[in-house]
This record gives sequence, structure tokens and C-alpha cells, in this order.
Amino acid sequence: MSNAGDELLKKLIRDVPDFPKPGIMFKDITPLLADPTAFAMVLDRIAAHFSGPRAFDVVVGIESRGFIFGAALAARTSSSFVPVRKPGKLPAAKDRVEYSLEYGTDALEMHKNSLHKGHRVLVVDDVIATGGTVRAAIDLVQLQGGTVIGTAFAIELGFLGGRKRIPDGVEVFSVLSY
Ligand code: AMP
Repeated sequence: MSNAGDELLKKLIRDVPDFPKPGIMFKDITPLLADPTAFAMVLDRIAAHFSGPRAFDVVVGIESRGFIFGAALAARTSSSFVPVRKPGKLPAAKDRVEYSLEYGTDALEMHKNSLHKGHRVLVVDDVIATGGTVRAAIDLVQLQGGTVIGTAFAIELGFLGGRKRIPDGVEVFSVLSY
């Protein structure tokens, strides 16, 4: 659903061609973060969508731009924040899920015992593109017994079909779609 607010927010997403490699149109969120009204609008829309029957008690944020939205959202909604990190960053015992990229594989890690059965988890990242990254984060949450009630993104690149990677029953909410 598009409205005047969407246009305002989209003006604050900078398209940077050929970053980090040729052919990629990078969606740069730093102008949006610099605008306190716009940043708050993004957080408020996510919080409003995941209220009532879709309420969560833990936000899992994906390194690194998912930390920016996820941590702010957790603080705003009095929820816990749990980081999911790239390999080798977390200091203590951790779980790991590998996922495939266009060429090769990557992995995400989460500290062991971050989540327990009964936790209602919202997974947050800045952008969903092909969906591989968020899928790995969902797998980590489920490995630890948490229930993923939804996923939230500032931006969805709909033409890449990432939401098809998200399991049935997991709500997908993106503030802006392209
Ligand atoms: P994917 O696993 O393909 O859904 O990619 C999602 C991850 O890559 C997110 O953590 C994004 O931050 C990043 N990403 C992918 N494509 C873009 C893009 N065009 N602009 C900005 N970030 C992107």
C-alpha cells in the first residue's frame, strides 16, 4: 500500500549504482537515519503492524544494518534485542547456520541460549533482497526453540522474490517496496 508518507520516506533512500559490485543498485538508508521524523516513522509502522495478536517479545537483528532498526525498535517496544552476527564476531559459545550465495556460502551466528521455547521473535533487517540472509536468521531462531512470528524490513526489493524464502505462517512486513 502506497501513500504520501511512502513518497516522503523514499526520498530519503539513496540509490547508489554499482555498490558493492557492478550491477547492484545499493539502497543507502543513511539519509533516512539522519532524519529523526522519518526514522521514527519507520519504527512506528513496524511496531504498529506487530501489535495485538502479532506481538513479539524479542527482536533479532541481522548484522549490520539490521542492528540499527532492530535495536531501536526493541528499545521502543520494551523488547529484548538479540544480535545475529557474521562468523567470528561473537565471543561466547554460538550456534551457526550456513546459507548459499550466488557464488559460495556464508553463515550467520547467534550466541547459544539467546532464545527459549515460548519466545515470540521478530526478525529485523534493513533490506530483503533474495531472502537468503533472513532465512538463515529464521533457521537460527528455530534451532534455539524460538517462534518467529514475523519479519520486518525498511525496504523490500520485491522483484527479487525474497519473501518466497520465508516459511508459511511467518508474517512479512516491509515499510517500503520497490
Ligand atoms: P538477501 O540475502 O539477498 O535478501 O540480502 C539481504 C542482505 O543484503 C541484507 O542484510 C541487506 O542489508 C543486504 N542487501 C542486499 N541487497 C541490497 C541492496 N540492493 N541495497 C542494500 N542492501 C542490500
